[in-house]
Amino acid sequence: MNEKTYNPFDTAQKQFDHAADLLELNQAERDLLRNPVREYHFSIPIRMDDGSVKIFRGFRVQHNDARGPAKGGIRFHPMETIDTVRALSMWMTWKTSVADIPLGGGKGGVICDPHHLSKSEQEHICRGWVRQIVKNVGPNIDIPAPDVMTNPQHMLWMLDEYELICGEKLPGFITGKPVGMGGSRGRTEATGYGVMITVREALKEQKIKPENTVASIQGFGNVAKYAIELYHKMGGRVICVSSWDEEDKTSYSFRKKDGIDLDELTKITDSFGGIDKSKARDLGYEVLPGDAWIEQDVDILVPAALENQIRADNTEKISKRVKILAEGANGPTTREADEIIQKGNIHVIPDFLANAGGVVCSYFEQVQCNMNYFWEKDEVLGKLDMKMTSAYLAVSDFARTNKMGMRDAAYVISVNRVVQACRDRGWV
Ligand code: GLU
Repeated sequence: MNEKTYNPFDTAQKQFDHAADLLELNQAERDLLRNPVREYHFSIPIRMDDGSVKIFRGFRVQHNDARGPAKGGIRFHPMETIDTVRALSMWMTWKTSVADIPLGGGKGGVICDPHHLSKSEQEHICRGWVRQIVKNVGPNIDIPAPDVMTNPQHMLWMLDEYELICGEKLPGFITGKPVGMGGSRGRTEATGYGVMITVREALKEQKIKPENTVASIQGFGNVAKYAIELYHKMGGRVICVSSWDEEDKTSYSFRKKDGIDLDELTKITDSFGGIDKSKARDLGYEVLPGDAWIEQDVDILVPAALENQIRADNTEKISKRVKILAEGANGPTTREADEIIQKGNIHVIPDFLANAGGVVCSYFEQVQCNMNYFWEKDEVLGKLDMKMTSAYLAVSDFARTNKMGMRDAAYVISVNRVVQACRDRGWV
């Protein structure tokens, strides 16, 4: 399947249908959960810096809120589609459920390319997004957060607009805010660290020491960088990362066989995670094609970029040595690729489990905002570790006991919790 015909919502629905079969859900339960309960589409008119007006399309999809207010990020992406947002909102429902936090699933987006927008144009888009949806979001309705190409500054502009309209301080409206402005310490690290906490537990189960492993990572954004940071602290060695090159409109992989240096690579990376090729060459990195990250001779693969990256056409490139595939991104593996991978010996840590650290810390951020008392970083990271470890162990125990793959086990646990909440409320 090529990128043009790939539809992530199709993947999300097929994954759900499979879980629904395993759980023997009735028709009403299936109909309720295979589509979002609500979705909003709107136009955001923006006065650009040159005086012209441009109209941007925005979305917010609330997949399910039976276990609590909808929760999930807002993406800025030039190729954003409503089906991508639908899929991601559904995955958020499973993510908050598998992590067992009292929230539902939602996702938002704007079709735009922040690479080519000034700071003030980005601020206007953030404020415009809030103005269009203000009645349908809020601390007890639906709580946005950062996602692909959005950051704490964007969250603060959105919060400011929301509070100006509502006429009161409501820091629980949005998470991923800057520390000191209602943000939680550790939120920036949380998703990447969470991925590696699950990898650490998987290695423990396989009785492998992290210091005897090497890894290859797709992406060099926020998730990838902090996953690498924690993995290096655990004693592992990353030999390859990949990143998007805005100038060439393609991605490249950067390899150093004796291990990449996170700090030196970070210094030559733009704010969107793009690594400077010529500077990387000067530092002794091999610059390889974008897909090269997947074919490295490593123990651990971490796709931490976008959806639809591991497909039927490139799974055969994965080395026989790979033992763990930890999905840092949302929806990186297509269903066809997943079937091929499951026949092999790779232990898959599925996306909505592996990358749940971000939303877990968002939940902590809300709790701290409600108390108006902010924890130290160690306390946040300690609580994150506890939540991620118990979510991982619950899924892996279930998979072992029921002789199921990790993805199926994660789906059965999380869909079951959501269905139960819908039944308890008398919806189905
Ligand atoms: N965008 C992140 C995710 O996909 C975080 C969502 C949140 O914190 O609400 O999990």
